[in-house]
Amino acid sequence: MGEELVAAFAAELGDASRAALSAVPDAGARLAELAVQLREALLAERPSDQAARINAMIRRYGAQPYLVEDVGQPFHLHFHGSGGTQVEALGGEFATALALIVDGYGPGRFGQCQAHQCEAVYIDLTRNGSRRYCGAACTARAKTAAYRTRRQS
Ligand SMILES: [Zn+2]
Repeated sequence: MGEELVAAFAAELGDASRAALSAVPDAGARLAELAVQLREALLAERPSDQAARINAMIRRYGAQPYLVEDVGQPFHLHFHGSGGTQVEALGGEFATALALIVDGYGPGRFGQCQAHQCEAVYIDLTRNGSRRYCGAACTARAKTAAYRTRRQS
């Protein structure tokens, strides 16, 4: 499971970050731990519990804002963690991203996909907070199932 998790994270990263991640010993186990923390923060029922979990992640991964200029892009803000490895970097970025979403959109913007047998978690950035599914595939699957149910009744 650890290697799959590293591969899944690595697929979303640029070349430098991917190389840095593969150099982290026990990256799989540490990413699994990070994934559990993210899920618990995302699915916390009470806003105060959610905020406490996100704050704990910000502290744990040592998230620090700093400006970065990538090739061909203007300066932009990163929140890499300060623990030294790519796992801390990712943890800091994720924790800060969740904090910014709670700050900008309010609580209740995270949830578990409501499609049958999908355990993915979604982040709802719609204007009216109407998201219920993790992505286009689950949305289409759920609509098809609802259509079939209506036709049968
Ligand atoms: Zn889904």
